[in-house]
Amino acid sequence: MVVGEFTTEVDVLVIGAGPGGYVAAIRAAQLGKSVTVIERGELGGVCLNVGCIPSKALIHASQLYEQMQAAEQMGITAQNVAVDFPKVQEWKNKIVKQLTGGVQSLFKGNKIQTVAGEALFVSENEVRVINGYEVSRYKFNHCIIATGSRPLELPAFPFGKRVLSSTEALNLTEIPQSLVVIGGGYIGIELGSTFARFGSKVTILEAAEQILPGFEPEMTRLVERKLKKNKVDIFTKALAKGMEESDTGVTVTAEVKGEEKRIEAEYVLVTVGRVPNTDQLGVADIGMKLTEKGHIIVDKQGQTSIRNVYAIGDVVAGPALAHKASYEGKVAAEAIAGQPSAVDYQVIPAVVFSDPEIASVGLSEREAKEQGIDCAVGRFPFAANGRALSVNAGEGFVKLVADKQSGVLVGVQIVGPEASNLIAEAGLAIEMGATLEDIGLTIHAHPTLGEMMMEAAELALGHPIHVLNK
Ligand SMILES: Cc1cc2nc3c(=O)[nH]c(=O)nc-3n(C[C@H](O)[C@H](O)[C@H](O)COP(=O)(O)OP(=O)(O)OC[C@H]3O[C@@H](n4cnc5c(N)ncnc54)[C@H](O)[C@@H]3O)c2cc1C
Repeated sequence: MVVGEFTTEVDVLVIGAGPGGYVAAIRAAQLGKSVTVIERGELGGVCLNVGCIPSKALIHASQLYEQMQAAEQMGITAQNVAVDFPKVQEWKNKIVKQLTGGVQSLFKGNKIQTVAGEALFVSENEVRVINGYEVSRYKFNHCIIATGSRPLELPAFPFGKRVLSSTEALNLTEIPQSLVVIGGGYIGIELGSTFARFGSKVTILEAAEQILPGFEPEMTRLVERKLKKNKVDIFTKALAKGMEESDTGVTVTAEVKGEEKRIEAEYVLVTVGRVPNTDQLGVADIGMKLTEKGHIIVDKQGQTSIRNVYAIGDVVAGPALAHKASYEGKVAAEAIAGQPSAVDYQVIPAVVFSDPEIASVGLSEREAKEQGIDCAVGRFPFAANGRALSVNAGEGFVKLVADKQSGVLVGVQIVGPEASNLIAEAGLAIEMGATLEDIGLTIHAHPTLGEMMMEAAELALGHPIHVLNK
């Protein structure tokens, strides 16, 4: 121990204040625990500072810009529509600040202590916290690891002046003239389409056969069509191999379907995945069991191989999503408080804030069939929904997949306006074991996009009203 290193004894120690950690801390405090949170960066983690929230703010601003330019078809002339990008960033940063300030107030109101610094395990019940020249130690009864993840770096594209991760891309001070996005997953598509709407020339390189691998091609096709309309070049089966950097830009070399391609751009954005922040935490040194990819192995309560230490969010396996992290955080806090809580991942919704939006929960038709389920399917188009047409967004569909015999809903896929909000009803329906009849007989307000769920259920039952039952 260094001279001057103090040890503080705490009850529940949470490491990381992202949507996993801060939610776990609040839930533990609600259950009467005395909670201390250690955070090396900003409260709110990736999600609030450099993830979900700032990306959605920029997506919205770029969509508004696009809509204003396209308003003429509705008889509205918008003249001299222009983007002041530093002001857009200022607005986005204000939202981030408001939300992270909100977490701070919630911590205060729940009497949660916050310690700034980087935590490192020194034993099964003690961490060392380094904050600049200050070093301190915290002994805990229980600990929740919620240290999240960071962008994966490609060896041939080290992050730097011209090679950006999502964090730097979200904080650009100018709209790039041109951008090569390596990785057509949800982060690459969301950011790539945002900059394309703002006027950048965007090229997307995706190694798989389609963008947004994992989502049904019938959904991603609509997103691809819109991207191409916005002059985005999309190359699938494309492997980015290397680059040459100059003062003003970069030339990316890629192998596209076996042929070499060179693409010049101002910046490269690498969005090929995320790495769990477990490597610099000292957990392997204290014998904690990890997967080959560095995720912490946990049971259904989030308990690690070390009995009094729990782990949640992006540091454990599963989709790297904020709502999954928060859910696991609540379960871990309740388990520590002695409650019989356990995770049940019957449905974890997945949303892409693309144009049109994509959302999915439960099983796709293909997955249901692979599981031997005899499916009833209702695929209702937004083009037959009055509300969708009146907001000028009649593209896409809601697809319900149910067990034919029982009518029990097993999955929903939505591509179209407000898919991100509409999927909530689907998640609840599956959680509650609802049938197609339950959904079809629920009176949905008119005219709303929500009616799409009812219409798709009626279609699956064979008696749709607003499309012909062919
Ligand atoms: C561009 C982008 C957009 C996204 N959009 C969405 C979206 O729309 N919806 C969605 O659900 N998810 C989205 N995500 C993913 C989401 O942000 C993550 O899944 C979520 O933040 C994970 O939460 P977490 O609490 O596990 O970790 P994080 O949010 O990563 O928080 C971990 C915290 O731990 C701190 N920390 C790490 N190591 C230490 C240490 N040793 N000591 C002290 N503190 C430490 C970090 O500073 C950080 O604040 C997005 C991600 C990105 C990058």
